[in-house]
Amino acid sequence: MTAMGSDRARETVRRLQRDITSGRWPLNSRIPTEAELATELGVGRSTVREAVRSLAHLGMLEPAPGRGTFVRSLNPVRGVLADFAAEHSWSDILAVRQALEVQAAFLAAQHGSEERVQRLRAAHEADAGGHDPATERGQSPGQFHALLVELADNRLLTELHTALSTTLRVGSTRGRIVSGQEADARRRDHAVLLEAIAAGNPAAAAAAASTHAGHDLVVQKAED
Ligand SMILES: [Zn+2]
Repeated sequence: MTAMGSDRARETVRRLQRDITSGRWPLNSRIPTEAELATELGVGRSTVREAVRSLAHLGMLEPAPGRGTFVRSLNPVRGVLADFAAEHSWSDILAVRQALEVQAAFLAAQHGSEERVQRLRAAHEADAGGHDPATERGQSPGQFHALLVELADNRLLTELHTALSTTLRVGSTRGRIVSGQEADARRRDHAVLLEAIAAGNPAAAAAAASTHAGHDLVVQKAED
């Protein structure tokens, strides 16, 4: 690709991406045809096609042959991050997840709203299933952790954590990531964490999150 061609392609990707993130085309809606977009953007159809392909790689668009191209995600980051994380060892991924959960717990205890703490408590009380992120019977097992991260009210932290959760779900379906705790132990850990957050004690919340994330999910040792 020539430098000029690649500049034009990048600019086209940027414009389409902006249209998606700005909500011009809602999630799961169909975007205009290649010809319409080419006219609108003043570029060739091949440039539009190339841009659409790039955004499909990012998981934002999905071309459905014969039916058009659909918006599948308003955010390119998650798919990219999850793919990037997957290039690393499971233990490294778990270690970074632990760091994110510790910071999330710290921030949640600092400024978690009462209403969100209540949601975390409700998730805790409803939790009776497994911790295996691949099986989502009843309440989603990852829900307590997802809500915990939401409490931190930091979108970057949430994106990173969600991406790692996606990667870990893949590891779980492959049997590489398993729960390292019985349900009772998990519930006890969650209760300690929840109370530290509800009490507005960041240090205690961070310590509880660190302990818990250190053994709730573990790498399955390869059998030999
Ligand atoms: Zn947990």
